Amino acid sequence: MTYVERVLQDIIRKNPAQDEYIQATTEVLHSIEPVLDAHPEYEANALLERLTEPERIIIFRVPWVDDAGKTHVNRGFRVQYNSAIGPIKGGLRLHPSVNLGIMKFLGFEQIFKNSLTGLPIGGGKGGSDFDPKGKSDREVMAFCQSFMNELYRHIGADVDVPAGDIGVGAREIGYLFGQYKRLTGLYEGVLTGKGLTYGGSLARKEATGYGLVYFASEMLKVKNDSFEGKTVIVSGSGNVAIYAAEKATQFGAKVVAMCDSTGWVYDAEGIDLAAVKEIKEVKRGRIREYLNYRPSAEYHDGKGIWTVKCDVALPCATQNELDLEDAKTLVANGCKLVAEGANMPTTLEATEYLQKNGVNFAPGKAANAGGVATSALEMSQNSMRLSWSFEEVDSKLHDIMKGIHRNAYEAAKAYGFEGNYVVGANIAGFLKVAEAMMAQGVC
Ligand code: NDP
Repeated sequence: MTYVERVLQDIIRKNPAQDEYIQATTEVLHSIEPVLDAHPEYEANALLERLTEPERIIIFRVPWVDDAGKTHVNRGFRVQYNSAIGPIKGGLRLHPSVNLGIMKFLGFEQIFKNSLTGLPIGGGKGGSDFDPKGKSDREVMAFCQSFMNELYRHIGADVDVPAGDIGVGAREIGYLFGQYKRLTGLYEGVLTGKGLTYGGSLARKEATGYGLVYFASEMLKVKNDSFEGKTVIVSGSGNVAIYAAEKATQFGAKVVAMCDSTGWVYDAEGIDLAAVKEIKEVKRGRIREYLNYRPSAEYHDGKGIWTVKCDVALPCATQNELDLEDAKTLVANGCKLVAEGANMPTTLEATEYLQKNGVNFAPGKAANAGGVATSALEMSQNSMRLSWSFEEVDSKLHDIMKGIHRNAYEAAKAYGFEGNYVVGANIAGFLKVAEAMMAQGVC
């Protein structure tokens, strides 16, 4: 039995019912096998065993009272996975599907993503099974304050700096920051994704989506191609999806379909992003309302966005939203590039199918790293007590995405997997963390 097989067997035995976590570790560990073969000292020092076990996991009760006076209890999580290369950094997700396995998969992926950015940030993740949908602002505030009443003990500008993710945008970060400040008396960059009037960074909101398109654009460049004239599908209609669609459109592509968890819209003329922003960012409404803005567009209930013919697909909604059947449809329809804006939106089988059938594929940990990279730029601005212009941040983001692309491409090439960004991103992300862990001794 190989080292990787042994570690994976142990992970499966110790973590029943954590499917997403097992999926993520399986993908990463198999793809770094060539590095492990070249570095026997990693096995001798139980590096994989240490890397796959989080430094600590905090699980806590989050009680809060709704507008009718009824008390609810949610479960809060913070997984502080690995701080070998810097303070823990990773988002907070508020969604009813949140459980320990999902928190661990996201935290584990975050280690490599953060390493790939080239910035000094360790990996972690957190959140709760609280559903912000349909809640009043006061209810969301009550939840966020209660969540922070426990979390504040475990975080800090040099310890662990949470950010947004699904269900956590500027409103939630504001409530969380306010409560942290009240509890600790500290005005520090303990959260990123803050509002611009209290330490937030320009271009943070746009960063993940823009970064995704910068990365995909580099992939196209390798093949002497560009976004100009391409037909694009973007799943989701949240923070990542909206700004991916915006940048793809600025680069000359036509985005024809977007979705939310209820259904999807197809607009042959190209999605009207001002309408999507108003529905999602202002009204917090449903994507079907798009027809009020563009009656000529189509709306379909349920899953099905991947049946739309496209050159480029950007899954930007959630994990495992693109399965084997979807991959087959995309290939049959002539799709040439899939870049993940969400975390692990493509199942393992779908990823393999896409790669085997000549689709240029970018994993989320490389392609969506622009968000966390810009969060790290927000941390730098907070420490220096200054703020950079939109253009400065955007240009740093662009350079970082080019750098991640180059590193992933070169790492894959060095190990004989040229063009395989899954292997390249995992190897490049892993090597830096592994070296730091080895240098710091058994800890
Ligand atoms: P948002 O909450 O802003 O948006 C999520 C979008 O995905 C919503 O439109 C939501 O629809 C949709 N969605 C959720 N579940 C499903 C589903 N099962 N089927 C179809 N659509 C669905 O989150 P973000 O845009 O911030 O995050 C999206 C993804 O990107 C996540 O995987 C996140 O981890 C990842 N990511 C985010 C970063 C960031 O900076 N925000 C950074 C890196 C990765 P509905 O409104 O109906 O729920």
